[in-house]
Amino acid sequence: MTELSAKPAFSPSSTAQSGAANYPGLDDWRDLPVSQQPSWQDKDVFDASVRELSVLPPLVFAGEVDVLRERLAAAAQGKAFLLQGGDCAETFEAATADKISARVKTILQMAVVLTYGAAMPVIKMGRMAGQFAKPRSSNDETRNGVTLPAYRGDIVNGYEFTPESRGHDAGRMLRAYHTSASTLNLIRAFTQGGFADLRSVHQWNKGFTENPAHARYESLARDIDRAIKFMASCGADFEALKRVEFFASHEALLLDYERALTRIDSRTGFPYDTSAHFLWIGERTRELDHAHIDFLSRVRNPIGVKLGPSTTGDDALRLIDKLDPEREPGRLTFITRMGAGNIREKLPAVVEKVTASGAQVLWVTDPMHGNTVTSPNGYKTRNFDDVIDEVRGFFEVHHALGTVPGGLHVEMTGDDVAECLGGADPVDQEAFLDKYESVCDPRLNHMQSLEMAFLVAGALAK
Ligand code: PEP
Ligand code: MN
Repeated sequence: MTELSAKPAFSPSSTAQSGAANYPGLDDWRDLPVSQQPSWQDKDVFDASVRELSVLPPLVFAGEVDVLRERLAAAAQGKAFLLQGGDCAETFEAATADKISARVKTILQMAVVLTYGAAMPVIKMGRMAGQFAKPRSSNDETRNGVTLPAYRGDIVNGYEFTPESRGHDAGRMLRAYHTSASTLNLIRAFTQGGFADLRSVHQWNKGFTENPAHARYESLARDIDRAIKFMASCGADFEALKRVEFFASHEALLLDYERALTRIDSRTGFPYDTSAHFLWIGERTRELDHAHIDFLSRVRNPIGVKLGPSTTGDDALRLIDKLDPEREPGRLTFITRMGAGNIREKLPAVVEKVTASGAQVLWVTDPMHGNTVTSPNGYKTRNFDDVIDEVRGFFEVHHALGTVPGGLHVEMTGDDVAECLGGADPVDQEAFLDKYESVCDPRLNHMQSLEMAFLVAGALAK
């Protein structure tokens, strides 16, 4: 754990908590140890921002969140598969129609590959429309002898290396909300307005450069086309194909923001964090008696927890007791990110212990965060082979134990970037000079993402 402080710098005035103001327990986290929170510069700006966030419309609806919980329950039983992907850190500047649509198209393509290959429904979820806060291993960054606060994501400060930009500005929470709203609006338009219709399966491939995964996708898309034409000539009704469900998720890191967007649902009387459908707790903030676990234990959203290589079976059981005391199907997802070199050795004990306890969680692999290295020319990167190896290890462990490998969590983009090394049309480190765009962790590019989907489809079909 890093930079632990007993309390956030200051608490909002009580008028800022409308909607869920008096719901018991929702503010208990304020008295617990909390890490990775900003030191906001200006109390007035902070108060005004929280007050406004507390009365703005919810970004997602409680009913959608409940549907997602049911979908995730099916995935935990091996009846569906979760595909969760997007940037490590979204930025305000990159929330453009082109970039958002390329990412959504890539996720839809990956989902088609998985659905077709594995003959299983795929739950589509973006690390999108709210992934603006980043945990950091150091509070500061030094460049050429100058030390400034580290970049903590656009919701806290700017990436530009100047004192003005790196100050922690609570007004950015409002911009994060509005950027999330416009991103979600576009996603909803794409996925509800006919663009995601399975009959457009070729369309989503247009505009991407020719490469091996691209060609393989085209051939699969032709098979799907043929199947659709066959069904159409049998008189099938394709209305249902026009719309797909697409869920939003992000790391629930910045508790002031998450708390301010928590609302009491009028149907059920329970609190929902309406900043996203699904929220996860990161590897650095999952300590049992600390603020993040406490706050997330009190909202109805399905919750994920990242589990790194030091996780023990007992840690997992304690997390289940705290976050899913009722053992509710779909409530809890464990996202393992152990590293290719660790997964086969470390994962079995954790899974066995959970299985023996009778609890059912959804197991998802994040093959990115345990495999980060620095390239010889100084970029933060990941080797595609390591990423693939962790995915294979994840499937091997679950197949050997007879448990369910239920999902894939990846940092990816629809753009032709060069951030991870390797792949069928290999990215080398020289390409980083021109095509490395991430402000945080390296992402799979469009082709590497499709390649990954083919690999996982193969593993699921077994
Ligand atoms: C992330 O998902 O970007 C992240 C920081 O992950 P983790 O908490 O697993 O390190
Ligand atoms: Mn990351």
